[in-house]
Amino acid sequence: MISSLKNKKRSQLLFVSLLLGASTWAQSQPVSTSPEPMAADGRISAALKQISAERIRANIEKLVSFGTRSTISAQDPASITAGRGIGAAREWIKSEFERYSKDCGGCLEVKTDSFTEPAADRIPQPTVITNVYAVLKGTDAENAKRIVLVTGHYDSRNSDILDTKSDAPGANDDGSGAAVSLECARILSKLKFPATIIFLTVAGEEQGLNGSHHFAKMAKEQAWNIEAVLNNDIVGGDKSAEQDRSLVRVFSEGLPAAATEQEIRRIRGLGGENDSASRQLARYIADVGRAYDAGVKPMLVFRLDRYLRGGDHASFNQQGFTAVRFTEFREDFHHQHQNVRTENGIEYGDLPRFVDFDYVAHVARLNAATLASLASAPAPPANVHLLTKDLENDSTLTWETSPGGRASGYEILWRATTSPEWEHVQKVGSVLRTTLKLSKDNVIFAVRAVDSDGHRSLPVVPLPER
Ligand SMILES: [Zn+2]
Repeated sequence: MISSLKNKKRSQLLFVSLLLGASTWAQSQPVSTSPEPMAADGRISAALKQISAERIRANIEKLVSFGTRSTISAQDPASITAGRGIGAAREWIKSEFERYSKDCGGCLEVKTDSFTEPAADRIPQPTVITNVYAVLKGTDAENAKRIVLVTGHYDSRNSDILDTKSDAPGANDDGSGAAVSLECARILSKLKFPATIIFLTVAGEEQGLNGSHHFAKMAKEQAWNIEAVLNNDIVGGDKSAEQDRSLVRVFSEGLPAAATEQEIRRIRGLGGENDSASRQLARYIADVGRAYDAGVKPMLVFRLDRYLRGGDHASFNQQGFTAVRFTEFREDFHHQHQNVRTENGIEYGDLPRFVDFDYVAHVARLNAATLASLASAPAPPANVHLLTKDLENDSTLTWETSPGGRASGYEILWRATTSPEWEHVQKVGSVLRTTLKLSKDNVIFAVRAVDSDGHRSLPVVPLPER
């Protein structure tokens, strides 16, 4: 009785809110104290089942078969024909994407981004570097401008970064990441999404993130609307005794690399150091991990990358894009960046037999579920603001319609400033302004857009507005 009365009051309030284009929610109203997990989309769940550890194994072994994929190794026609060196690897990746495209009636546009990197420390002479990618264009004209992207690097290295002759199998680093991009392309190209998905493989990572730097810069210059970048680097689940195959680490930057001095001042003043857009993406992946049984759970690590290491997601962060890195729980450094050899009974080298192909398939499922969820979701709401004109204990948020017309409503998220993930959610319907009986001084807010099927956009933390 009480609850139905409450519901009635609530629906009346919602009705009034809709009329006024605004809403007010008091703290005493029923709110979900732990946000319900994202609803699994049956179409996405079915697609995830088709991701194959066997296919991933075949692709990693094929990449290893090119002997070395050092960025400065051979790429002349004779070496490509002979099947040795980075040129041969590049041509094979391209043909693989083209094969997937053929299977979906030409649904993928297969492209290369080729440029000459000038000589540098790790590049003895000017070298052509080629990124290979496939575009699954969104089916909705407006939403097709929105892009989600998955990447891995197909180049490899051995102990000496300038050695182009010795084998550099790179099964885990980063045959595994390249295989994730390929397998996501094979499976997701069978579906259609309103937004665009790009499946990328880059080169030059080991030489200095050259490929991703060039690609991200091009995307920035051409004003591509990339909403999220998933970088997979060393996701092979090396079979060492202390590996935890139930977890994959997801690294995200705190202070955005691209933040201006003014933005850094605001972040410092308001405690925004844990709320970069990349960190919202990491939290989104945690949400996806609860909705879909990928076989592996994301373990969020709130730092850009591991000690002494870097990766391609940083190239995207530097250009102001939202990007995270997936890496296996525990790395075995004997099996990375090492010539294949046995010394004092220790086996060195990045060989396929140290890779757990089931684990790579699980990571590919988590990636595919994230890409598919974002590409199905409405765009995030635009120009999200928190009004801070007056000293008051309520909090008023305003935003503009999610571009592209796919949102059926909006949800307010909040959490204690000390909490790593969103703790509360309030559905506010199809309004563009709401007031909560909650002090903005004590919590962090965000707003997300949802569609009628429950697909959620990335949440947007408001900017203060006076
Ligand atoms: Zn790597």
